[in-house]
Amino acid sequence: MSLYVQKYGGTSVATTQHIANVARRIERTRAEGHDVVVVVSAMGKETDRLMGLFGEVNVPTSPDVRREMDVLLSTGEQVTISLLAMTLMKIGIPSQSFLGNQVQILTDDQHTKARIEAIDTSAIQEGLAAGKVVVVAGFQGVTQDGEITTLGRGGSDTTAVALAAVLKADECQIYTDVEGVFTTDPRVVEGARCLKEITFEEMLELASLGSRVLHARAVEFASKYQVPLRVLSSFDESDGTLIAGEDKTSMEQPVISGIAFTRDEAKLTVRGVRDVPGIASTILVPISNASIEVDMIVQNVSADHSTDFTFTVARGDFEEALSILEEVASEIGANEVSGDNKIAKLSIVGVGMRSHAGVASKMFQVLADESINIQMISTSEIKISVVFEEKYLELAARALHAAFELNEAV
Ligand code: ADP
Ligand code: ASP
Ligand code: MG
Repeated sequence: MSLYVQKYGGTSVATTQHIANVARRIERTRAEGHDVVVVVSAMGKETDRLMGLFGEVNVPTSPDVRREMDVLLSTGEQVTISLLAMTLMKIGIPSQSFLGNQVQILTDDQHTKARIEAIDTSAIQEGLAAGKVVVVAGFQGVTQDGEITTLGRGGSDTTAVALAAVLKADECQIYTDVEGVFTTDPRVVEGARCLKEITFEEMLELASLGSRVLHARAVEFASKYQVPLRVLSSFDESDGTLIAGEDKTSMEQPVISGIAFTRDEAKLTVRGVRDVPGIASTILVPISNASIEVDMIVQNVSADHSTDFTFTVARGDFEEALSILEEVASEIGANEVSGDNKIAKLSIVGVGMRSHAGVASKMFQVLADESINIQMISTSEIKISVVFEEKYLELAARALHAAFELNEAV
């Protein structure tokens, strides 16, 4: 018997009516002869609502506060698993729900952004052996010490792929509110096109660079354990997008496969720092000690041997990073610290870049033609990212999408 892991995101389980539709889809999968393990997210925008309640309490984040946030945020998924299990029972399908700590999805202790380290599959295997559909809460895990953790926003995808990997499932299907993976966010660029397939490598870049459709860690797991991964809509019957190794994707590769972007960015600059060894570490070690991840870094040395040191962090870390920098700046005798949290990052991604020159210059020309000033640039073998003022994001995405011929043919 084959095994499918199916994951249904927030919009797909937004109401009990939606959950009934999901139950029917699971019923059909079973009728086709597959065992099913289901992972679900919180209903609709429940996790946003819980984040809002946390915001109302208005307490500065600290490790102890992050622990409590996980206790709060993990409640959303608990509601959905029980409702789905009961809905399945109602239509005659034996089912049982499990929280992260009941399965034993073991994670590290990084509250609000924990990583899965191991999964005990015995409870799930028992459930499947008893003929049940096993329903697992996405997004949550448990530490060795029994503390509840969450995997970061969008983390239910990672729960599903990790389960598919340890259970050696035949396919992991991520059901969402769009038909599959598009060339860019179809809610922002009208002409975005749904891709039949995409490589793990490109999908990992797109996801890490802001395409919300898949959690980056999920793609990492799928690639590492070679889990066939498919993104498809829970609202229609199309085949969606297959994400697989380069050997398994057959289409001729275009130069650019997709465009990702994110507003979740903020930029910090320390001005007038002496150009001497150790400056980068003096500035960045206190930032990393506060568990703040640094993304892009730019350092310019001027003729007087002073340097401006600029880097980006997630927007949620902006205030904390700024106050850390203010302390560091006075220690190292810098002139000034400044910040900007109204920036966005846009990236073009494609394995075809390896064999084509001139992609970067074309990108910069398109942005110049739209009078968009690029503030930072970073490149890797298969991607080019730029940072600019947030207000230009849609304009830049549409212009580049058209210029790289990604638009749906009409
Ligand atoms: P779910 O709740 O099902 O996990 P998400 O909201 O996390 O759904 O992800 C789906 C959303 O991702 C889509 O509604 C779409 O707006 C957004 N998105 C961003 N980039 C892409 C892309 N390249 N392809 C498809 N969807 C994308
Ligand atoms: N409910 C969580 C979130 O909204 C996890 C997920 O949906 O993947 O981020
Ligand atoms: Mg998601």
